[in-house]
Amino acid sequence: MDTNAAFPDVVLNWINGQHETTLQNERFTKFNPHDGQALCQVARSRAADIAQAVAAAKAAQPAWAKTPPVKRGLVLFDVVMALKARREEMARVVALETGKGFKNALGETDGAIECGLFMAGEGQRLFGRTMPSGVPNKYAMTIRQPLGVAGLIIAANTPIANLAWKIFPALICGNTVVLKAAEDTPLSAWLFGQITHATGLPAGILNIVHGYGEEAGAPLVAHHDVAVISFTGSTAVGKLIAVTAGERLAKVSLELGGKNPLVVCDDADLDNAVKWILLSAFSNAGQRCASGSRIIVFDAVYEALRARLVQATEKLRVGPGDDDDFGPVINLEQLDNMLAAIRGACARGAQLVTGGYRLDDDAHCAGYYLAPTILEAVATNAEISRTELFGPITCLYRARDFADALALANDSPYGLTASIHTRNIHRAVEFTHQVQAGVAVVNAGTFGSEPHMPFGGVKQSGNGTREPGTEALDIYSTLKDVYITVNPNLV
Ligand code: NAD
Repeated sequence: MDTNAAFPDVVLNWINGQHETTLQNERFTKFNPHDGQALCQVARSRAADIAQAVAAAKAAQPAWAKTPPVKRGLVLFDVVMALKARREEMARVVALETGKGFKNALGETDGAIECGLFMAGEGQRLFGRTMPSGVPNKYAMTIRQPLGVAGLIIAANTPIANLAWKIFPALICGNTVVLKAAEDTPLSAWLFGQITHATGLPAGILNIVHGYGEEAGAPLVAHHDVAVISFTGSTAVGKLIAVTAGERLAKVSLELGGKNPLVVCDDADLDNAVKWILLSAFSNAGQRCASGSRIIVFDAVYEALRARLVQATEKLRVGPGDDDDFGPVINLEQLDNMLAAIRGACARGAQLVTGGYRLDDDAHCAGYYLAPTILEAVATNAEISRTELFGPITCLYRARDFADALALANDSPYGLTASIHTRNIHRAVEFTHQVQAGVAVVNAGTFGSEPHMPFGGVKQSGNGTREPGTEALDIYSTLKDVYITVNPNLV
């Protein structure tokens, strides 16, 4: 792993263009997932610190809102170019704090840059509509307006992309931001703050706070000066946020978990299917909302697919390098939760096909490494079939035919992404239309959405919003109808 990343020993909040200690001067330790060693100390914010950040964002918002959207786009373009110039530095920091390979971290950083470029351009397209009026001499149109302060809360799995997905659309719409970074990935957020500062983004427009969910995230959601909350994280926390935001009728966008099916039909290219199962289930250590955690295989090819998949899985390399297929999970608690889930599933009748244990050789024993794990003979109503694990674990299910596979795919509380492998165009199109998911893919993985496309889920995977794409503008702005009545006699 390239550990040559520069970062502070103590990561402080970034409020109003300055590093701020928390009012009680509390900190927590961020550990390196690769070796379990302390990486840095991080500000442990409480409600009063959040209030300080919200006040800074509120004070900066009117001037930012008055800045024409085209100009805001140019300012954001400078931020994107600065991120591009420092993309390797950012990727080193992401790799270090997540344990993933540098090459993957660089790919994510480039995704963040693409997202920023797209959103900067939206400054030139922040249009409403002109509509005919039913009344003579009356003109009707809509305009987009900012909401105020945006409270953004993100997960740690792909930190620089998660951050860009929210910050760029929130800012282009004329809001100012308080971002609550994930407690496991404070450094990428810190560096992003420094990069924006170096480009001259005025103080208070982007504020970054650190801390635990209940102590720092919850007060941000509850704060009456936060007009819109955008959250990426677990369904359980998303529900809590929806209740708090609902009580004060704040706008809220929830991008939540998934238990995503990948269907392999009897006419699929099995090598291609195996390739995408491996990537969907195990890349990024399975820490993707869009990971493929339910592999549904037609009976006719089950044994053949299973044999190829097991062979390929057992060849995967686990570690923090560019030659490795995936790295550690983000923290020890996650690792312990997954081991417990595997034990619980096996106690209830699931069969372990491969993996299921913590890697304990010299190269891995200090880190949070789980062997790539496949289970089978799992009931569709078993906990492991219905609960997202967020790790390198997937389950195999048998299906009789297309109808059975589709029914299995849809038999889930979640509905984020889905994929089908088939050479039959009729099956492919029918699946994309009938599967209950926000994203449907043919002959590839369950993940891989692009930054200019609207991503999000149905059922327990979200509340119906889509980020990013132009659809994100609907989250971060409000429409105002404007009617203008003129009197031709006064011309
Ligand atoms: P999590 O819900 O525990 O935490 C996510 C964020 O929410 C963190 O910053 C955390 O500090 C904060 N948080 C926790 N409790 C909070 C509370 N009570 N109030 C306010 N904020 C709170 O999730 P996690 O385990 O860190 O991340 C994994 C989850 O994120 C998975 O469910 C995954 O599917 C989901 N995810 C979804 C998407 C998507 O776009 N749909 C993308 C990435 C990750």
